[in-house]
Amino acid sequence: MGQNKNQQGQTWSISEAERVYGVSSWGGGYFKIGDNGHIHVIPEPSTPDVKIDFKAVIDEIRQEGIEFPVVIRFHDVLRAQVVNINETFRKVIDSANYQGVYRGVYPIKVNQMREVVEEIVDAGAPYDFGLEAGSKPELLAVLAYNTNPEALTILNGYKDEEFMRLALLGRRLGRKVVVVIEKFSELVSLVDLSKRLGIEPIVGLRAKMQVKSMGRWQGSSGSRAKFGLTIAEIIKAARYLESHDMHDALKLLHFHIGSQLPDIRAIKDAVNESAMIYAELIHMGFALEYVDVGGGLGIDYDGSKSTNDSSRNYTLDEYVADVVYGLREVCDLENVPHPNIVTESGRAITAHHSCVITEVVGEIAPDGAEIDTTPKDDDHTLLKNLYELHQCIEQQQNYQEVYNDATQWKEQASEAFKLRVISLEELGKIETLYWQIMRKVQAYYRLVDFVPAELQSLDFSLSSQYLCNFSIFQSAVDSWAIDQILPVVPLTGMDKPPTKDCSLVDITCDSDGKIDKFIVDHEMSDVLPMYDIPKDEPLYLGMFLTGAYQDVMGDMHNLFGRLNEVHIFSYDDDPEDFYIEEVVKGSNVDKVLSVMQYHPDAMARDVKKLIDRQVAEGNIKPREGVKWTDFYEQCLSGYTYLSTNK
Ligand SMILES: *Cc1c(COP(=O)(O)O)cnc(C)c1O
Repeated sequence: MGQNKNQQGQTWSISEAERVYGVSSWGGGYFKIGDNGHIHVIPEPSTPDVKIDFKAVIDEIRQEGIEFPVVIRFHDVLRAQVVNINETFRKVIDSANYQGVYRGVYPIKVNQMREVVEEIVDAGAPYDFGLEAGSKPELLAVLAYNTNPEALTILNGYKDEEFMRLALLGRRLGRKVVVVIEKFSELVSLVDLSKRLGIEPIVGLRAKMQVKSMGRWQGSSGSRAKFGLTIAEIIKAARYLESHDMHDALKLLHFHIGSQLPDIRAIKDAVNESAMIYAELIHMGFALEYVDVGGGLGIDYDGSKSTNDSSRNYTLDEYVADVVYGLREVCDLENVPHPNIVTESGRAITAHHSCVITEVVGEIAPDGAEIDTTPKDDDHTLLKNLYELHQCIEQQQNYQEVYNDATQWKEQASEAFKLRVISLEELGKIETLYWQIMRKVQAYYRLVDFVPAELQSLDFSLSSQYLCNFSIFQSAVDSWAIDQILPVVPLTGMDKPPTKDCSLVDITCDSDGKIDKFIVDHEMSDVLPMYDIPKDEPLYLGMFLTGAYQDVMGDMHNLFGRLNEVHIFSYDDDPEDFYIEEVVKGSNVDKVLSVMQYHPDAMARDVKKLIDRQVAEGNIKPREGVKWTDFYEQCLSGYTYLSTNK
């Protein structure tokens, strides 16, 4: 174990790597660090012997000539999550002797990819698991894919008449399509349309909840919520149906108090509040059959099991128990039937199943270049000062003073340069000396217990930035938009101690395209312990838990577009325990340009004409002209990200 020590000289082992990167804490049982220091995927945590080594996946992707960055989907993980939530509800409903059934739906806005939706519908079929849509395009997809007559189709969001008409088409097709009323005028339009078409709708009412939720979406509850009906509006809506002889159409009560709910208390309170409204509506004579508790089931992105915005202080079992027992308690007290339970969990079902693999393509170090600092007689005093400090730093007693002096002289040097007092070359030397001094100051403070406050940021200032071949705006938009923590880890090499601390930057021309919030050793850190970039092969990083929202909300910043996708199934008989079932090509340059109204074919013709003219004028040889023409066309049809294998 001699060489297996980290920067601080501690010994290193896989359990150390686990402590630093917290893979088991956020991995939901699907990911762990194997004994060989590679990340392993366990597609079905109940059979831990079937495991897929990320290194084998990367090797196969390279063999197939698929360019990085790639999105990897583990279909087994997606299926396991669907089974997981359904089986947990079954188990708790059984042991609570609860009289209703569980009929979950998957809200497709969380990840609308057809393959994802198909897999969820297929895995959920034995449980009559349904789908939820919140817009017309989503509804059109759901009508075509949710064909099980027993499964629910829940329609949320604001609706026009066409939307309602599509819902009634679903009723004509024999489906349990529930139109959830978000505002009173929608009910008027639905009642009118269903009378004209002679089709009985199924109506749900979304309640504005009084409970204050927590987390980033706390605005989804309270009287300023964007969606839902107040108590007075719920009563008015119920009476309106009654007055139109559509008393029996009211079947469902819905609430959704926000996504990624960090605190179980908000869920308990909301379940209680909704159960009371449900019971009252039953007392008023409406035969409601379902209570829909919405989404919000959280994911422990940071692995802290806390009420941090990127975490949650409960497990799936506890969540389900609170929903089932919470409803039962109120219903038994009020002497009303136990309603069937609907959830709209999206994040919890899809987050784990996909991740992004990117390559580190470069390092940006603060002291990346050094120039010769041999002193000259006519050097400026500032340069002389720094040179002296550098010479005798070993004899210094007071490193804080060294830091202060060096920093002050460097600032003065920048000013002096602007006033033409020192030359560019002198400024370069000062920079070189400054960072050499800072490295020594850092080495000193690593050995002592007390580090003065101003020096605590020294580690960050001296850390490198690793340049990664991806766009945060495409692949991790919540990390940029709402400071969501997404776990990022090296995929191999974790049997050795990390060699340096780094933050990450992407390849967009945007200073915001960076990640400098990580959970390291259970604490927030602005740098991630990393490995040197090997000379002979790329260094691969995995960004995990991107299956919910990140996969589909990305934008076209810098025209990078969608990533190549690799869909993986586990297969016990295979030596590597997996096979690639499908490859979905990411965006090509001509595709992203077309989206922005360019005409790539015409562009290729125009550039060819320009090259031909240079050939005609004798500035380019004909053979070279053909090469340039081919090269331009080849780039137009190529991948938008950096090519690293050419
Ligand atoms: C977004 C949304 C969901 C999904 O929420 P998750 O937190 O991802 O489970 C469910 N219901 C409604 C009404 C939503 O708007």
